[in-house]
Amino acid sequence: MITETSTILQHKPTNWQRKLRQAINNPVHLLELLELSDSSLAQTVITKPRFNLCVPKGYVACMRRGDPYDPLLRQVLPLKEENKQLQGFSLEPVGDTIAKKVPGLLHKYQKRVLLIATGACAIHCRYCFRQHYDYAVSPSLPNKKILDTIRADTSISEVILSGGDPLCLTDNRLTELAYSFAEISHVQRLRLHTRLPIVLPERVNEELLAWLTGTRLQPVIVVHANHPNEISNPVNKALQQLVEAGITVLNQSVLLRGINDNSSVLVALSEVLFSNQVLPYYLHQLDRVRGATHFEVSDKTAIQLLTKMREALPGYLVPKLVREIGGMPYKLPL
Ligand SMILES: *Cc1c(COP(=O)(O)O)cnc(C)c1O
Ligand code: SF4
Repeated sequence: MITETSTILQHKPTNWQRKLRQAINNPVHLLELLELSDSSLAQTVITKPRFNLCVPKGYVACMRRGDPYDPLLRQVLPLKEENKQLQGFSLEPVGDTIAKKVPGLLHKYQKRVLLIATGACAIHCRYCFRQHYDYAVSPSLPNKKILDTIRADTSISEVILSGGDPLCLTDNRLTELAYSFAEISHVQRLRLHTRLPIVLPERVNEELLAWLTGTRLQPVIVVHANHPNEISNPVNKALQQLVEAGITVLNQSVLLRGINDNSSVLVALSEVLFSNQVLPYYLHQLDRVRGATHFEVSDKTAIQLLTKMREALPGYLVPKLVREIGGMPYKLPL
């Protein structure tokens, strides 16, 4: 049934695919929509950025009109500050190349492999550590070399689909992938790292729930929300659908200057996530990627923020504050 439906839908775009195509790509247009064309912010925008603007309209709807400091706008708007270069900010901050056994497959940590399932994303986050990643070298999936590698290493118990955003792939393709991993007996869990339930909640549909819960693999989704304003009513609904289907849903955030470097914002984010039964997992210190210097928060401030969160929240709503360092066997707690 699922396969049949998705085959038909490949010719006729589904609701989420249509919304994806309608995403806004022009910074000038975005400023117009937000009534910011005449603001001083307009002077500092890059109108034709190398890593282009991409933001779904539903996400724009969560931004405040007329507010140049809106925390959602600041995550997506290309600003001239991106041209600033600083020692230590590189094209590849987390050592992806050395961890690449087979094209598209990263094996950095014990028992877990991470697949670059696609280069596509529904939103372009200006602080993204993979914004310079050469996705052209990523192979199409499922792919014999990748499956053979996972099959040959019986220590691997978890396959993580990442990207880009794996949920930009069609449900057809994802069904094939999930079933191929389920055939490898030592694989126990299928994890998705995705921002789509937050930025394009229409993506959570019956087809997705069917393949994600339709194999013997235990499903885990790690979503990516940074600010409570991102959790709109459609997002609440999407998260609840995932939870009700029996999927463990966790959240990871990136600590970002001017966006969520404030303890009451972080506390509110944990609270609203948990009202949907989503647990905070990681709060990442920024990966030092070129173009993102203006988002960095010092370790000292980060630790102070975490202390305030510990005071204000039950322990299970305090995320782990971590930094990723190339070559380390896990994400390093601060
Ligand atoms: C982050 C990451 C993982 C997952 O790490 P967890 O600590 O299990 O969340 C796995 N592989 C790679 C390459 C990663 O970057
Ligand atoms: S959704 Fe994730 S991978 Fe895509 S641009 Fe944002 S941070 Fe990068």
